[in-house]
Amino acid sequence: MPWETALRVALALLFVGAWHLVFGWLWNRVAAVRRGRRAPSRWPGRLLTLLKHGFLFLCAVGVTVLLANFYVYHGFGHQPDIYRRGDPARPWVALTFDDGPSPQYTPRILEILEKHGVPATFFMVGAHVEAYPDIAAAVVEAGHEVGNHTYSHINVPTASTQRLYEEMLGTTAVILEVTGQYPRYVRPPRGLYDGRFRRMAALLGQEVVLWNRSSFDWQGSLSPQAIVRRIVNEARPGDILLFHDSGALIGREGGNREATVQALEGIILGVRAKGLEFVPLSQLLHGVEGEADPPFNLVE
Ligand SMILES: [Zn+2]
Repeated sequence: MPWETALRVALALLFVGAWHLVFGWLWNRVAAVRRGRRAPSRWPGRLLTLLKHGFLFLCAVGVTVLLANFYVYHGFGHQPDIYRRGDPARPWVALTFDDGPSPQYTPRILEILEKHGVPATFFMVGAHVEAYPDIAAAVVEAGHEVGNHTYSHINVPTASTQRLYEEMLGTTAVILEVTGQYPRYVRPPRGLYDGRFRRMAALLGQEVVLWNRSSFDWQGSLSPQAIVRRIVNEARPGDILLFHDSGALIGREGGNREATVQALEGIILGVRAKGLEFVPLSQLLHGVEGEADPPFNLVE
């Protein structure tokens, strides 16, 4: 186990231990008050103590997980470098697709987007860009924006610093080489980021973009109709909408994105019928569409 991971595990255990103590203290206070009213219990002491500490331990783990979950998804304090949505005062929403490119689904998504003249942003996994360079290039040729989604869809908070930097730099390099477009955004897999990730993103000049409305298409059990209904009902001005054109719940590939592809047209029509306009992320976040990048040529 790398020492950084060990440190994180130790920290988590420390939190669990602290909560266990807090709950144990509360338990004893309550028990003391109750003993005052009733005769002392005649339970077999050891079993009861074991059950009590098992229960307290589960409570402590639960609270630690909940707090950690809140921290990684919402963070603490002001985070001006992290985008979760655009300006709610303007009737704009942005479509984002994660984990691709995929030979099965991305071309079909591109076709639907082109038919309706809808721009989107694709947060690509470096290994997929390397495996399917033609599809990655087609995304950029169709005029869509591209973001960095790490090389192998790592879990950022538990990755070693060296691995994290390799993942972020490697994906930036491969996207630039294959598509000619520098990824101007970065999105941590599963939305889990930390301070190292934020600093590296700033160094790379990539804006950290999360989302505020998920289609939950990664669950794999939703019908296209359910995805359309959810997004069309809930879409609000300023939304960054999350979809997936590849990936699986655990692994990087093998996910079935048929429902996403089939839902897309209904979503475009339904969201437009609410008076909302699909715009590129650059416009949603900064009010103006980004300038076209100068053509890069790494060989010259
Ligand atoms: Zn992802």
